[in-house]
Amino acid sequence: NLSEKLDKAFHILKGHGKITEVNVADTLKEVRRALLDADVNFKIAKDFTTKVKEKAIGQDVLTTLQPGQLLVKLVKDELTELMGGDVAGVNLSGNPSVILMSGLQGSGKTTFSGKLANFLKTKKNKKPLLVACDIYRPAAINQLHVVGDQIGVEVYSEPENKNPVEIAQNAIKHAKANGFNVVIVDTAGRLAVDQEMMDEIARVHKAIQPQETLFVVDSMTGQDAVNTAKAFNDILNFDGVILTKLDGDTRGGAAISIKSVVNKPIKFVGTGEKMEAIDIFYPDRMAERILGMGDVVSLVERAQEQFDEEEARKLQKKIAKNEFGFDDFLTQIQQVKKMGNMKDLVGMIPGASKAMKDVEIEDDAFKHIEAIIHSMTPGERSKPAIIDVKRKARIAKGSGTKVEQVNQLMKQFDQMSKMMKMMQGPGGKNLMKMMGG
Ligand code: GDP
Ligand code: MG
Repeated sequence: NLSEKLDKAFHILKGHGKITEVNVADTLKEVRRALLDADVNFKIAKDFTTKVKEKAIGQDVLTTLQPGQLLVKLVKDELTELMGGDVAGVNLSGNPSVILMSGLQGSGKTTFSGKLANFLKTKKNKKPLLVACDIYRPAAINQLHVVGDQIGVEVYSEPENKNPVEIAQNAIKHAKANGFNVVIVDTAGRLAVDQEMMDEIARVHKAIQPQETLFVVDSMTGQDAVNTAKAFNDILNFDGVILTKLDGDTRGGAAISIKSVVNKPIKFVGTGEKMEAIDIFYPDRMAERILGMGDVVSLVERAQEQFDEEEARKLQKKIAKNEFGFDDFLTQIQQVKKMGNMKDLVGMIPGASKAMKDVEIEDDAFKHIEAIIHSMTPGERSKPAIIDVKRKARIAKGSGTKVEQVNQLMKQFDQMSKMMKMMQGPGGKNLMKMMGG
């Protein structure tokens, strides 16, 4: 995956201190390839890597210990920003609020109309009305009724009427008269952009003046999605993008391209055919997906499950008060051991890989460490500073280890405490979050 490649590409960098033009080139080539693999438009990928390069050059890597990770983070942050920064919601200020769906046939408009209605009904306590304005395909009206039945939301349709503008206007009257506070208008699409479709959606848009016009796009369509988005945006100046079918093996590069071209927020994603398969769009998660960092994310999630939140909070306090001792160290080790593969975990924690780089990571990697700590007195555990040469010899004897091993542990402990203290600063938020703090 990309983060491994970046780590490798940055191997040569270790000891060089700063990121320079030369050692960043290979890495950014990998980044560009990952973006292109994810269907990001070539020019956008190129502009993007140029921007990251400018930010990366001159950055101090001594403080971050893992240059590869620094660059991954830079790339991820930059991608996140590119895709929209904060999470955007839908405008529900109207009475009723009118939401118009636009997009090509098969993009998922009808399905998403149902999902959104269900979301607003169950999560936002709204009373939505679905409106069938796809009058061309005989089955379309029926499809929306099936969806409506499934989620218990009323569907407004006029099977005999061939004028979508009228249907939409009548639906809004119906909504006002019957206490619906959200009106979701599902429209007809074509397989490709054509003038007739554009004229029709423009007429509906003008007649009903929606609070929110959403452009629905199939994330599997890759590069084509950009042109389609541009065509619809030129006509509708839409408010947001819905990215559907993200449950497939698409990596979602369309998200970046669309955002760059039309500069509108992606608001929701569709992740399946079921009505519940709707998610708010989180730019940072999408950035991870595009970079193929899903494994890292799941590791973090696993870590979150395992770390006892209460424990983590206590620990944070101790670190802040300089009271972190060997008993806490032991607790940490036990927590970490519960999580499984040590190498993955250590690699994930920014800075930890170096602090623990002399430790042989095996299944029983901590056996000696635990033995040594168990041979310390409670006083020594809470105030490691009192451990002098004489005490070290006693501890080594008691734990069946050598004095050098005790020394090594003392050194590692020292580094770890320093690192943890550092983590409490602005850069350490992630670790603390990971620990459930
Ligand atoms: P419309 O023509 O734009 O109204 O598209 P539809 O809502 O009819 O969807 C077209 C097809 O895509 C249907 O078979 C849907 O079940 C499917 N679909 C829609 N959204 C998703 C999604 O998020 N994931 C998956 N896997 N399928 C979807
Ligand atoms: Mg449809």
